[in-house]
Parts: sequence; C-alpha cells; structure tokens
Amino acid sequence: MKRIFAGLLSAALCIGLAPRAGAVEVVSTIRVGLHYGSGALGEAVVENVDGAGFSVGTYNGRSFSATATTASTKLRVTASGESVTVTDANTGAAVYTGGGNVALSPNGVQFSLKSANYCGDAVFSASGSQLTAMNYVSLEDYVKGVLPYEMTPSWHSEALKAQAVCARSYALGSINKHQSRYGFDVCDGTDCQVYQGTGRATSNSNSAVDATRGEYLTHKGELATGFFFSSDGGATEDAVNVWGNEVGYLKGVPDPYEDLDNATNGRWTKTLTGTEIANKLRAAGYSIGTVSNVAITKRTPMDNVNEVTVTDTAGKKVTIRRQACRTVFSVNSIRYSINGQSGGSGASSGTSSGTSQTQQPAQPQTDVYITGNSALGPMPRFQVGAMAAVGEALQTILGASCVAATPSFTFAGTGWGHNVGMSQYGAKGMAEQGFDYRSILNYYFTDIQITK
Ligand SMILES: [Zn+2]
Repeated sequence: MKRIFAGLLSAALCIGLAPRAGAVEVVSTIRVGLHYGSGALGEAVVENVDGAGFSVGTYNGRSFSATATTASTKLRVTASGESVTVTDANTGAAVYTGGGNVALSPNGVQFSLKSANYCGDAVFSASGSQLTAMNYVSLEDYVKGVLPYEMTPSWHSEALKAQAVCARSYALGSINKHQSRYGFDVCDGTDCQVYQGTGRATSNSNSAVDATRGEYLTHKGELATGFFFSSDGGATEDAVNVWGNEVGYLKGVPDPYEDLDNATNGRWTKTLTGTEIANKLRAAGYSIGTVSNVAITKRTPMDNVNEVTVTDTAGKKVTIRRQACRTVFSVNSIRYSINGQSGGSGASSGTSSGTSQTQQPAQPQTDVYITGNSALGPMPRFQVGAMAAVGEALQTILGASCVAATPSFTFAGTGWGHNVGMSQYGAKGMAEQGFDYRSILNYYFTDIQITK
C-alpha cells in the first residue's frame, strides 16, 4: 500500500461553520526528527522492508513531489554542502541529487534506517557533510509508533485508547515545535514523545489507535494537550500549582484508581543529607548555607506539596515552590512527607523526630529549643543562642543519638511524575473497573471534548 500524504488539512470545530481563529489545525503528516544536531549522520542507508523500490523526490512543506523512481531496494544517502545525493547502495549508480528536504518514499509500507523500521517516508536535509534524518509519517502511524513506548501495550484496551487520544493531542500541540532549529515538528525522544517506528507495536496497541482514529482533546474549541504521567499517588494537581500557569482543563482530581503497590515507583522513599540538599539547591541556583531544617510549609487543596522551606544554620530560609519541590530534590513526585511530617496548612507539626531538628521559630536568629526524641526517654531541654552552634554543641552535650551532626531528611511519597493531566496507572485501574476511554479522559481532564 502506498501512503498518500494529503498535505495540510484544516478542520473546523464548529459544525457547519468555516474555520475560525483558534480552531485546531489537524495535519495528516507529522515530521519526526530521527537523527539531528549532534546525532546527525555522515551517511545513511535506507532499505525497503517490503523488498520493493522507491520513489525519490522532495517535500515542499508537507507535500511530496516525486522526480525519480528506482527499483533498487537499498539506497545510500550522503550530504555535500546543501545537496543530498542518493545512490544505489549495491551498484553505486546515481539515483538523485538535490537540495531541500529529499524524500525516499518506499514502494511498500515500511523502510528501515539504522536497524529501526518506519512507516511513511525517509527524509533528509544536508548541512555540510551531515544529514538530518527525518520520518514524514501519517499522524495515525506516528501514534502507533508512540503508544507502545509510552504505555505497556498489554494493558487494558480502554487505557490504551485513552493514551492514544492523549498522544494524538500532544502531537497536534507540537506541530512545528522544532521547526526553527531543526526543520521538523517533533523529535523521537522524551522531550516530545518516544517514537521508534513499528518495532514495538502490537495488534493490541495498533487496535487502540485504530479505534480512536483522528480523535483528540479540545477545551472550549481549542486544542487541549494530552498531558500524562505514570502515577499521581492519590490526586492529580492543577497546572497552576505545578507549572505556574492556569490551564482550564488541567485541574486536580482525587485518584482512587491507582494500584500503588503494583505501580512502578508507586511508593518510594529517598533520604538526603543536609549537605546533599544544600548541593541540590545550589545547583538549581539557590543560595544556602549549612542546612539545618527542611519542612513542607504549604500543601495544595489536593494535598500535594506546594512549598518546601529549607533553613540553614544562620537562619536563612529558602522557599521552593510548585514543581521545583519535585525537581530540585530529584524525588519522584510532589506527594510526600519529610521525616514523617506532612507539613502545610492544617497538618500536624512541631514535633522533632529522629535526625531532624526542631521546627524553625518564626524569627530567625532568636533562641531555639532543641528537645530530645521521646522514644529515647526524657531528655533535657536546652536554650541555644546561635543556630550555628547547634549541631556541634548539642551533639557534644546530648550525644549523637539525640542530634545528628549532619541531619538527614527522608522523603516518603507516592506517585511518579508531574501529576498534571492523566495518570497512566489510574487509567489502567479505571479500565479494569469497567470505565471506557471516554470516561477515563473526562475524569482526568476537566471540561474537555473528544473531537474528531
Ligand atoms: Zn522534542
């Protein structure tokens, strides 16, 4: 079957109305970067997987014009200046030389490039002696090449369908994303969505794409990007509380559907010393001295962490907000406690335990009371004049069992990812409980339509 690229196709969202500003532009062909930048190729060998020849020509935008045909099943591509040269890989016979985006369109379904098989066309542009290798592929075949890399293809079909709609929406929201730098829409890595052609697709994953053919998410007539993540650990979160911008369809919801005991990183702990935390803060651009305390100082209405305050021995406080509460500490989610303290408004606080120090008083540099761990029995109570002296002085007086010289902080949490949009493990749980993909998408996204 020869694939046909129809070029740009605009879809009006209002039934019976002409396209309007803000309407979603649905492309039939997406341009995926495979080898580019530092990974650009010195030469490429493209083989027709179906044992047939190629049409060779150029793309103008998303429209292909064939100017040569060859029965050769294996072509070699090289770059010189701005020109791409295509030869028969077996005989060396010239097939085509030209500039721009040069396409090798297999007379069949798939081609191979560097051990991976792809639908659509192999497209190359030249810069000096280097080739940028791209795959121009139909949106549906692209989603088939993404789905099994973003969700386990043996999962319930309704979860796979929900993921397929998310992947298609994400792709439509990424058209021209890498245009200015590299000349294509999306890359094939986690920066966009992982895409490796047809290698991992199964009948299960392909069926989920076919069953949702052309469907994507909209919110008030605009494209809604299908953000997703592995698991939320109990509740998703408003985009504004994670990324800082208000998005109407990305609102937190409680999540009773995840099986956290069987989810990858569904439950986790991570212990960092004060020194490690200070280093992580400095690496993220914050200025902090010797860390004496780390505390959650604000949670969201969904009970996710919204603010963590780190205090140093000089009383200086650094407050980290939103997604930085996950990324700065390199922990798995924004849903955790620190040394057993959930912190934030309404949460219990004030009891020191284990290796953590007491809560920092409201005014830095004032007197600080250190109390012992009640598990060790009654401990004396000391008043200390300067935070800088706390660690050493109290270790000497109380012994290491009461106050560690280097405090450590254990983050114990649930969930893996940014918590905005659809939980994949939640989708799995909902599907197994009988919800269909439309119900799943409508649960995790607020006020959306599934548009075709
Ligand atoms: Zn990318």
